[in-house]
Amino acid sequence: MDIKVLKTLLTERGEPAYRLAQAKRAFFVDLGASWDSLTNYSKPLREACQENIAWDVLKEVRTVISEKGDTVKTLFECRDGQMIEAVLMRHDDGRNTVCASSQVGCAMACAFCATGTMGLKRNLAIPEIVEQVIHFSRWLKPKGEYVTNLVMMGMGEPFHNYDNVIAALRQLNDKDGLNLGARHMSISTCGIVPGILKLADEPLQVNLAISIHAGTDEVRDKFMPVNKAYPLAKLMDAVHIYMEKTNRKVMFEYLLLDGINDRKSDANALARLLAHDHRLSHVNVIKYHPTEAFEPSPRENRMAFVEWLEERGISATHRVTFGEDIDAACGQLAVQEAEGLVKQGLEAIRAKRESKK
Ligand code: SAH
Repeated sequence: MDIKVLKTLLTERGEPAYRLAQAKRAFFVDLGASWDSLTNYSKPLREACQENIAWDVLKEVRTVISEKGDTVKTLFECRDGQMIEAVLMRHDDGRNTVCASSQVGCAMACAFCATGTMGLKRNLAIPEIVEQVIHFSRWLKPKGEYVTNLVMMGMGEPFHNYDNVIAALRQLNDKDGLNLGARHMSISTCGIVPGILKLADEPLQVNLAISIHAGTDEVRDKFMPVNKAYPLAKLMDAVHIYMEKTNRKVMFEYLLLDGINDRKSDANALARLLAHDHRLSHVNVIKYHPTEAFEPSPRENRMAFVEWLEERGISATHRVTFGEDIDAACGQLAVQEAEGLVKQGLEAIRAKRESKK
């Protein structure tokens, strides 16, 4: 639901302010299915809304659940036919984390990332970001559960779509809406310096994660083209400013590529890079989910890498992996698979729509 358009519509019709709160309640809290669920609106008002504002801008194409049942991945079709994916991770401790996309595709072209191979199609609009979360809220509702956390770690570079991402998070944080705590939301960036600096001044206190993946420019240059524009020294200056201003912890993501960034010297380089701000730094060591480009580090190296960092006084943990069997793990959210399997499904949907006309 496009809240901005609704606001304008309600104002133009001279409706009282509480009408907006009623719609937010129906959409974000009651998780209603259509404008019909707004029973406190008059029929003409409901019809005007229906005509001008889509209740849902995303259409669920397909949802797959991992064998363990802890990961749920949904493929959505946007109104212009573009496809995006989002994932729900159900942690043992009761957290339900949504991993949402910020763009269709991505321009950053990190060599290890499946989304990177797609190129950028376009930015997602605010309702398209919000509704990925609402979709999983609806999915969890019959189980008596709700979304507790949100990470902007799906497809796309969130800081290339800064304004829409922040506006979407604000809507989700809204007390009249889903009321998701800002501290329960994270934005992950490949290292867009202006975005980091902007976030440092953002009133909404969301968490920041940096996909660092290397401790030297020499190594980072090998697989992250963004490092040319924002090399590590510039990136770390921005992180330092962010930490100074917010006093919030920053999570550094580090995926391990066999023989490329997983040696002891790499751990030492990363530890040196983070030494200055080690109090507010935490490294999340990630298992590389093979795309086609690299080989993942063996398990022993991953274990050792965390120990090497800890020996140097850097707090580090392994990231728990979700959804590998359904291609929902980090870097595997690409729509290639959609192009084959899902194309058929879509054609069927279109044919059905056509036949209804
Ligand atoms: N563009 C943002 C958010 C999307 S990627 C960013 O770069 O942070 C989310 C995380 O998954 C990033 O840390 C990214 O580097 C990581 N990732 C990408 N491909 C991966 C792969 N094949 N295996 C494991 N992690 C991967």
